Amino acid sequence: MAYKIAVLPGDGIGPEVITEAVKVVRAASNDYDFEEALIGGIAYDQTGHPLPPATLELCRNADAILMGAVGGPQWENIQPASHRPEIGALLAIRSELNLYANVRPAKTLKALLNASPLKGDHGMIDVIVVRELTGGIYFGQPRERRDNGNTAVDTCVYTREEVRRISEQAFAIARTRRHEIVSVDKANVLETSRLWREVVTEMANANPDVKVTHMLVDNCAMQLVRNPGQFDVILTENMFGDILSDEASMITGSLGLLPSASLGPSKNGRAFGLYEPVHGSAPDIAGQGRANPIAAILSAAMMLQYTFGDLEGAQRIEAACEKVLDAGLRTADIFEKDCQLVSTSKLGEAIAAAVS
Ligand code: NAD
Repeated sequence: MAYKIAVLPGDGIGPEVITEAVKVVRAASNDYDFEEALIGGIAYDQTGHPLPPATLELCRNADAILMGAVGGPQWENIQPASHRPEIGALLAIRSELNLYANVRPAKTLKALLNASPLKGDHGMIDVIVVRELTGGIYFGQPRERRDNGNTAVDTCVYTREEVRRISEQAFAIARTRRHEIVSVDKANVLETSRLWREVVTEMANANPDVKVTHMLVDNCAMQLVRNPGQFDVILTENMFGDILSDEASMITGSLGLLPSASLGPSKNGRAFGLYEPVHGSAPDIAGQGRANPIAAILSAAMMLQYTFGDLEGAQRIEAACEKVLDAGLRTADIFEKDCQLVSTSKLGEAIAAAVS
């Protein structure tokens, strides 16, 4: 029986890039059935809610979720704020499905080395940031104003179990790569970081096949620019991961190339997850055929690898992206002299043809 993928195209360029991702997965395998549902501003317009119950139901019953992007200027001021796409759809789906592990690879594609802000081979990076997504200072209580609004309080909380389960994801990912984890914290200052380091150290002792080192977050931010090639898997908490994953991804040079996964507790023996490009709905280029579909296509490749264990299929999709870029096909965001400018669908078709 085919696996069931819930497809949530969303707003702006979301539908354009997701169409290409589905096309490429179909070219790679017959194992998947796709069913679409509404999310984001378009869902709000049609149903009054950015994450309608029918969408959530489809996601709960699916083996994995492939999402485009949500949001746009016309939905920015919706009241109540809980009905805005970014809050009512994006944050809500992550918390409803308990997607606690954010996995963001940042890999320089050789054909696009010039796009990196770092010079020459120095810009080569191939790292996966594993970020805890549902705990830490973004969620701690209390979060409030005191003293007539003149004092602001945020609270950072981590439990042993939260650190353990995200570390487990990082160890599993490291085993598919160089078996190396750099765990990033601020253990010289923060109590939550001391607990983080304690738990990661216990796990390192129990899993000696993976080499674990610890690094302070300020040093990590410097090292990513000084020598990005030293990192394989970075394991870190919510806020540090938010910042470091953006830093790492910019070293690759284009937002249109970056995939991501948000994983939750496993389901039917497989890692359940939501796969989406890192970029947003790009309203400035929506509907013009100018969006780069590679981030969405690589997100689908991550889905094959992480949820369905099809590493070979994922590698075929990645290789097809590289091949098409090597042949000189480019969307506008990554266009270079002597290359051929193509539309979203032409690039998707070329990648699908290179896969099959
Ligand atoms: P954005 O990522 O949508 O766009 C930033 C810039 O990058 C724009 O100039 C855009 O044209 C370009 N860009 C992005 N993706 C591209 C692609 N695939 N190909 C070519 N160019 C691309 O960020 P933004 O402009 O800050 O946000 C636009 C909307 O998207 C907002 O409503 C924001 O809240 C939302 N957003 C959603 C998500 C999500 O759904 N996960 C993430 C970020 C932003």
